Amino acid sequence: MSSSTITTTLARLRQTFDSGKTRPIEWRLKQLEEIERAMREHESDFADALHKDLGKCRFESVMTEMSFVEEEAKYARKHLRNWMKPTRVRTPMMAQPGRSYIEPEPKGVVLIIAPWNYPLSMVCAPLVGAVAAGNCAIMKPSEITSHTSAALAAILPRYLDPDAFAVIEGGVPETTELLEQQFDHILYTGNERVARIVMTAAAKHLTPVTLELGGKSPCLIDKSADIEVAASRIAWGKFINAGQTCVAPDHVLVHRDVATQFVEAITRRIKDFYGEDAEQSPDYPRIASERHTARFADLLKGQKIHHGGRVDVAKRFVEPTIVLDPPKDCGLMTEEIFGPVLPVITVDEMHHAIKFVADRPKPLALYLFTKSKVLEDAVLNRLSAGSVCINDAVIFMVSPELPFGGVGNSGMGRYTGWYGFETFSHMRPVMKRGFRLDAPIRYPPYTEKKAKLMKLVR
Ligand code: NAD
Repeated sequence: MSSSTITTTLARLRQTFDSGKTRPIEWRLKQLEEIERAMREHESDFADALHKDLGKCRFESVMTEMSFVEEEAKYARKHLRNWMKPTRVRTPMMAQPGRSYIEPEPKGVVLIIAPWNYPLSMVCAPLVGAVAAGNCAIMKPSEITSHTSAALAAILPRYLDPDAFAVIEGGVPETTELLEQQFDHILYTGNERVARIVMTAAAKHLTPVTLELGGKSPCLIDKSADIEVAASRIAWGKFINAGQTCVAPDHVLVHRDVATQFVEAITRRIKDFYGEDAEQSPDYPRIASERHTARFADLLKGQKIHHGGRVDVAKRFVEPTIVLDPPKDCGLMTEEIFGPVLPVITVDEMHHAIKFVADRPKPLALYLFTKSKVLEDAVLNRLSAGSVCINDAVIFMVSPELPFGGVGNSGMGRYTGWYGFETFSHMRPVMKRGFRLDAPIRYPPYTEKKAKLMKLVR
């Protein structure tokens, strides 16, 4: 994509936004409906593209990508009329008689930059918020998942208003070029390094940003937990998308009394899910690229592997792997793993696990498996994370009522449901007064009497 195409596309979108076309609720509802229709009518095309890019089976693609987006759009359509209503607030005595309210207005033309791990939903789920809020949007899918990027570029323009939306494909040069332009909001999903580049570029135009990042999401397992259920839920959350999920449990901190039981249970569940040889399972995805696969061979060198460990770079295959008690300073414990390798660290007491997490950057998700309310309270009081899920993993993502976003190093801002609408809206305060009753108390000359009255009417 040439730079002149980027500037002409942006100019077209800006003209559309300025014309007011995107503001009426009817237009927004229609675009949301079109997103749903595109997901439904092209389920096979998207599933094929996702299979080529990530070896994802159709069930998983539908569940975590197309249905996720469809549900998000449906939910927005159902609630949009309410969301768009102004909220009345109190008007202080000083400004009486008067009316005050907060009403959402669209921000303008927004940019959505997406990563490769959920290459469809990370473009389209934020798009739902942008559309609901009445914006125009440029979407930039990840170049690493090129088939899904091409499918989005071919399909979305056939459904969405072409005056208001555009998919721009490409890699670093195109993203860099986009970031030089002025947008009214940028939502970036990806890694911390590029997030800094995005934020620096946004700073030049004072553009607000939402940064959806990753990190090492820990999973604490107490001896009171139901270990069989915990193992099933953690195995599912860890190995869907072959561990390439931003909120996947990164590592486990398990109480010594139940550590062996947990390791045996999760190993059994891996075999139940994917058979003795996961490479033969149609349900087990591949790593996005050979470069990303090779990283796992390095990360696993010298580790105590309890299960799995096989890496085939040419096939982009990494076996579901359980590593026992890796050294704290190795790559597995310092980098976001972002793949199907689960380190299991044994702790003598749960407060050691709490300290372990507290000493590290705030994660995107925090998982705790326990029946103890005391431990639950201790974890919630002591630890910060983008989201917390107690006694399950990843499943909280299905709720459009819960905002999704990080804190500290795991990101800033949030979306899904109302929160996506809010992110892409300016919540504009309006105070309206009439011309009658123009009390002179606030006008000079200031007197003692006025000062006393002022205290009373505040
Ligand atoms: P990626 O390499 O696909 O990069 C993301 C986007 O940034 C792409 O569109 C790419 O073109 C662009 N980009 C890359 N380098 C750039 C540069 N130098 N300048 C400008 N743009 C550039 O994806 P990734 O970053 O490897 O994604 C994985 C990360 O994303 C993980 O850390 C994961 O946890 C995180 N993630 C977070 C969420 C969330 O919602 N919080 C969701 C998915 C993934």
